[in-house]
Amino acid sequence: MIFARQAKLSTGWASNVRVSHADGWITAITVDQKSDAHDTCVDTLLPSLANLHSHSFQRAMAGMTEYRMAGKDSFWTWRDLMYRFTANLTPEHIEAIAAFVFLEMQEAGYASVGEFHYLHHQAGGMPYADLGELSGRIAAAAATTGIGLTHLPVLYSYGGAGQVPLETGQARFGNSVDRFNDLVARARDAVAVLPADCRVGIAPHSLRATSPDDLKSVLAAHGDGPVHIHIAEQPKEVADISAWLGARPVEWLLANADVSSDWCLIHATHMTADETLNMARSGAVAGLCPVTEANLGDGPFNGPSYLEAKGAFGVGSDSNVLISLTEELRTLEYSQRLRDVARNVMVIGEGSVGETLYMGAAKGGAQALGRGGGEIAVGELADVVAIDSTAPSLCALHQDQLFDGLVFAANDNVITDVWSAGRHCVRSGHHVKRDEIVRGYKAAMQSLVASL
Ligand code: ZN
Repeated sequence: MIFARQAKLSTGWASNVRVSHADGWITAITVDQKSDAHDTCVDTLLPSLANLHSHSFQRAMAGMTEYRMAGKDSFWTWRDLMYRFTANLTPEHIEAIAAFVFLEMQEAGYASVGEFHYLHHQAGGMPYADLGELSGRIAAAAATTGIGLTHLPVLYSYGGAGQVPLETGQARFGNSVDRFNDLVARARDAVAVLPADCRVGIAPHSLRATSPDDLKSVLAAHGDGPVHIHIAEQPKEVADISAWLGARPVEWLLANADVSSDWCLIHATHMTADETLNMARSGAVAGLCPVTEANLGDGPFNGPSYLEAKGAFGVGSDSNVLISLTEELRTLEYSQRLRDVARNVMVIGEGSVGETLYMGAAKGGAQALGRGGGEIAVGELADVVAIDSTAPSLCALHQDQLFDGLVFAANDNVITDVWSAGRHCVRSGHHVKRDEIVRGYKAAMQSLVASL
């Protein structure tokens, strides 16, 4: 039983709230109660966010790509370094890094993660004896941390638009459709041992890494769960896909696949007004990764017209250069302000920008990971987070200003507790297994850096 001095329920703010949960689900909510001696007492309870897009291993190279080389640095030179880095990763490294990354996400206030998993094989491209070895490592990291995992094995078959063969650096990612189907089956086995809120979807990496026929084939085989795809992140990608398929990436996808509310389109940065409107109407979630998109120089999302068309959105930490829920949400808004030379952009009409961003991302993130409605209500997963509204950065604010304070004026250190489907993983600001997981991460980094 959780007792909160105040809570943002699906029906609005309430005081002195008791939330009961069992087997991961919220079973009862009562308001205007007194706390019981056995309750876990918190200050302010909110629905927690899903981190809808992560490549956990990339956390280990954070800070290594911020040095300007001769000539203009770009997304594509970053990608080259990432390929060289992945060549040295062992299964043990991958598990230790993922556990640390999931811990950081939970301490930042995320209850769940969509792990967009494309590192499948040994360096050089030879599959492991168990094709699902590395999916198993991600599942093991989820088991250690208790995070709610939506595992998204990635179909990555080509090195570029037009079925270009894979480059050497991409050999660890590659699968034919047949082998991908086997891999998904192994991933399902690996995730089956996790709690029931954890699940498997699929992720065709991008239009440039698949082909129209392959895409059709994997959607026919696995189209029943979350489907995530990178789309329109970079102008070069838009140009390459347009030249190959005769349509821009989002335009082509909407015309050639049954894009629905089960889909999450990651980035969707470079869209025309029509693409923006049609994507919003499709019911798919825009998987925005503002910190990574700023870090990689991708560009800002077309926020105002997408919101106006009632498009669903959520946030992800993608490259994991920095894991911070508050930073992610405020970077989303600030990218819009800088482009539009305006303030308070990501809200329709009048209202709190912080609340629009936070509650919108809670709903969209939960939808994208197949985790329900993303709100505190009976029958929803117990994905909840507690913040301390008496912290110096929040103590002067009214209840209806709290989300604005959290998003624009506070850091993740106001997070006190996180429950992932009822698993109480963060207490007093720290993950319950912090020492053990950090030790494992540091040991992995020591061995990895020595191998570079
Ligand atoms: Zn990504």
